[in-house]
Amino acid sequence: MKQVARQSRADGLSLGFVPTMGALHEGHLSLVRAAKSDCRPVVASIFVNPTQFAPGEDFQKYPRTFESDRKRLEDAGVDYLFAPDAAEIYPPGFRTWVTVEGLSDRLEGRVRPGHFRGVLTVVLKLFAIVQPQKAFFGRKDAQQARLIGQMARDLHLDSEIIVCPIVRETDGLALSSRNKYLSEEERRAAVVLYRALDATRAAITRGERDALRLTAAMREIIRKEPMAEPDYVELVDAETLEPVTRLRGSCLAVLAARFGTTRLIDNLLIEEHAGEFRTTL
Ligand code: AMP
Repeated sequence: MKQVARQSRADGLSLGFVPTMGALHEGHLSLVRAAKSDCRPVVASIFVNPTQFAPGEDFQKYPRTFESDRKRLEDAGVDYLFAPDAAEIYPPGFRTWVTVEGLSDRLEGRVRPGHFRGVLTVVLKLFAIVQPQKAFFGRKDAQQARLIGQMARDLHLDSEIIVCPIVRETDGLALSSRNKYLSEEERRAAVVLYRALDATRAAITRGERDALRLTAAMREIIRKEPMAEPDYVELVDAETLEPVTRLRGSCLAVLAARFGTTRLIDNLLIEEHAGEFRTTL
């Protein structure tokens, strides 16, 4: 992989990179398409990164569908698939970690201790191996994308971070490898996350700017779904990830909830342009 990376640089090519944990769906493939439209060659990785799973999380049972993933990436026109072993990425004696202070402790970081340390460390390692000009991430994991952007800036990485839209099912549920865990009933209930965000979108269109009223309305929608157990429901500044009391600049409505043992996240992007608010689900 390093040889391919060095050769692409030497040839003046713009290498595009799509890191994944496999169990691929249309969300991943949308990142591949974005990379293909902008870069050559395109590299995808599949690595279920053990260090980003907190103790007791689903590392062992995380869906692993390597052969069909490989085929889908090939059909999508990916030039190289990088699928290292955990022992290669974390050899014995490994002891260097990346943390982005502050931003890592909130939201997902609070519920999943050590999660972002694992994510940032593996992304930096993958970048060091793949040396992408551009790397493509989904806004589905908005906090992750924000943290990776911060790391790239803080560490002067030579890779541009591109954040792509959320791909959803027809009923609005954001695609996720973890949707596979849901029972039929939980799958029906899970759309409540989208409904809560969509209600916020509609309220903003009607002129609502008060973050406390918006979050209260989202909590109420989720509370009415008996199968959903919320972890957090917040309206935060997109830069600092701190809660806001009133919409201003770029904000995110962020949600996390459990359906049975499956934990799902989703978000709505809210951007102010010349006094108007644009929302992107
Ligand atoms: P994962 O395999 O879950 O680590 O995800 C790999 C990449 O795909 C990350 O950048 C995710 O944000 C992105 N991704 C996952 N689900 C979606 C989705 N529904 N829409 C867009 N991107 C996604």
